Amino acid sequence: MATILFPNPSARLAPPAPLPPLTVPERLLLGPGPSNADPRVIAAMNQQPIGHLDAAYLAMMDEVQELLRYTWQTSNPLTYAVAGTGSAAMEATIANAVEPGDRVLVAVKGYFGHRLVDMAQRYGADVVTIHRPWGEAFTLEELTAALDEHRPAVLAIVHAETSTGVRQPLEGLGAACAEHDCLLLVDTVTSLGGVPIFLDEWQVDLAYSCSQKGLSCAPGISPFTMSPRAVAKLERRRQPVANWYLDAALLRKYWGPERVYHHTAPVNLTYALREALRLLAEEGLETRWQRHQQTATYFWQGLADLGLTCHVEESLRLPTLTTVRVPDGIDAKAVGRQLMTDYNIEVGGGLGELGGRVWRIGLMGYNSQPEHVDTLLHALETVLH
Ligand code: PLP
Repeated sequence: MATILFPNPSARLAPPAPLPPLTVPERLLLGPGPSNADPRVIAAMNQQPIGHLDAAYLAMMDEVQELLRYTWQTSNPLTYAVAGTGSAAMEATIANAVEPGDRVLVAVKGYFGHRLVDMAQRYGADVVTIHRPWGEAFTLEELTAALDEHRPAVLAIVHAETSTGVRQPLEGLGAACAEHDCLLLVDTVTSLGGVPIFLDEWQVDLAYSCSQKGLSCAPGISPFTMSPRAVAKLERRRQPVANWYLDAALLRKYWGPERVYHHTAPVNLTYALREALRLLAEEGLETRWQRHQQTATYFWQGLADLGLTCHVEESLRLPTLTTVRVPDGIDAKAVGRQLMTDYNIEVGGGLGELGGRVWRIGLMGYNSQPEHVDTLLHALETVLH
């Protein structure tokens, strides 16, 4: 057999210095995400890949769809998980819902509202915005007045704003949108698996989420869903979806009965997501929501005992993500660094307008446990005093 050699040895790039096998430090991830994955999810993921058209894999896709519908409380047939993080699923909903020239109303009350604006503009939407201060939510009256004024084709809003820690109440909004012939698009990235969501009851038309927060899975696979009303708009499009990879009409041929190859699916991440959703269903949604609320309430009490305050009033506070005010004279970044170096604990800093003013503490999925609250409060007390 001929020896294979570089044709031009002098132009050859030398291999990098040899590395040891990978070791990943153990961290307690109590920031805005990712959160620690459930060890059972990591075990499920850590198996050989199979083909994305293998009958066993296709059956797994059906199971994932069924479990996602339960988790979101929707019967939408079009409920898929795409390769990529939450932003990919966000882009899937925007790309499929928006045609160039469509008016899209974005209700902005934090960083991720701005991301929705950016994405909708990139897909040619005529974007109009309404705003609330970072740390507050919109009332139904404000949102309905904006629907009256702007008559959008789509209203986009974040259910759980990770930059502020606010839970946006959604009751009544879907009905108002339907009356205005408008689709309701909701970001559930920091709420799915930790905060009550009832997509069908709330008449939400498009929603997306991620795997690495309330679902206790690894990052890299993200669900999105479209109601029959949203699918009808997709089917009426005059122009094809401007994103080939995330085009739901193409994805439907792979996820639906036709099973036509579209892309190589993230097989191992599908194992992980199936296990994460299986464990969630085993726990039960109500028990899980209750666990998140109890752990968060315990944390808020502990913060008060340390003399620390929360940025958001309690009735609108997310159980999954708390914004804690940085006391005067404290360097927020230095505290975060010390928590990491001394305790292996990751917390998040403030984002955008709240930069330097809050820490963002996530208690999501597998990490929503009182023992982790005790560990964090003890570390915080030591670092701050
Ligand atoms: N939307 C919200 C509310 C988020 O918190 C995030 C990420 O934290 C995203 C969207 C984007 O998700 P990802 O970072 O997984 O792409």
